[in-house]
Amino acid sequence: MARRRLSRRQREVRRNRIILACVASLILILIIIIISVSVKSCSRSGKSDNNKETGAISEDNSDIQADSNNTVNDDSADTTAASSTAVSDNSPYPAPQLPSGNIVSKGTTSKGFSIQEIDGATYIDGHLIANKTYALPSGFIPTNPDQPVNNADRSSTCLDKTLMSAWNSMLKDASANGLNIYIASGYRSYNYQVNVYNRYVKSDGASVADTYSSRPGYSEHQTGLCFDLNSIEDSFQYTDEGKWVNDNCYKYGFCIRFPKNKDAYTGYKYESWHLRYVGVDLATKLYNNGDWLSLEEYFGISSQYPD
Ligand SMILES: [Zn+2]
Repeated sequence: MARRRLSRRQREVRRNRIILACVASLILILIIIIISVSVKSCSRSGKSDNNKETGAISEDNSDIQADSNNTVNDDSADTTAASSTAVSDNSPYPAPQLPSGNIVSKGTTSKGFSIQEIDGATYIDGHLIANKTYALPSGFIPTNPDQPVNNADRSSTCLDKTLMSAWNSMLKDASANGLNIYIASGYRSYNYQVNVYNRYVKSDGASVADTYSSRPGYSEHQTGLCFDLNSIEDSFQYTDEGKWVNDNCYKYGFCIRFPKNKDAYTGYKYESWHLRYVGVDLATKLYNNGDWLSLEEYFGISSQYPD
C-alpha cells in the first residue's frame, strides 16, 4: 500500500512538473514575442527620426507646414483655411495644396491619373493644369498665395506659399554657387493675359502668337505656380544659370515645364526659363535622369486649343 501511495505521489509530482514546464515555456514564448515586437517598433521609429535628420533642409519643411496650416485666403470669402494636409509625401518641398471646394470627378487620363475639377479648374492627380486643353476660369487667382493677390495684374510675391519656400532655398543654393537667378515674371492675371495676347495677335497674327503666347485663361502664369527666370531668351539654356537650373531645379520641386523637343506634347516651344512648381516627388519623375518629360506625356493628357 505504502509503495503504491508513494508511486501515486511520484506520478502527481511528475504531472505537476510537466504542467509547470508547459506553463514556463508558454511564458517564455510570450516574453520572446513581446521583446521582438518592441524591438521592431523601436527600430522603425529610429528610422523615421533618421529620415528627418538626413533631409538636410528639414527646417524649411517645418516652415512650409506651419505656413500652410495657418493659411486663410483673404481674397475669397468661400475659401476657408486651406485643407490641413497638402500631400502625404515627406519631402522638404511637397506638392502644392489642393484648394478647398467642391471636387467633381471627371474620370481618368489615358495613363490612369484622376481628373478632377474644383471651381472650374482642372487637377490631374491633384496637380493644377493650365494648358491649351485645360483652361482656367477667368476669375481664377492663386489659391494659396504667399502674399495676397488683391487686384494685382502681375506679381512675383503672390505666388504659391510652398513654391516660395522652395524658391528661397533654390535661390540660396544658386547664390552659394556664384549664380545669379531671379524671378523675372511670376503671376499674371487673366486680364493681363488678355492684353498681352491681343498685342501679339496684332503684330504676328493669331496662329503665330499661339506658338509662343497663351490665350487668356490658358496661361500657366495665372496659376501662381510658375515663373520665368532671368531672360526669356533661348540663350538662357547655355548660361551657367540655365544649365544649373536645368540640372538642379527638380531637387526643389520645380520642373522645366516646356522641355526641349516636347512641343508635340506641350503645345509650346522649349522654354529653359519657365519653371513650374509640382513638388519633389513629381519633379524627380519628370526630370527623368536629365531627359525631361513634359507633364502632358507623364499624365497622358493633351494640350490643344479646342479650335
Ligand atoms: Zn513663362
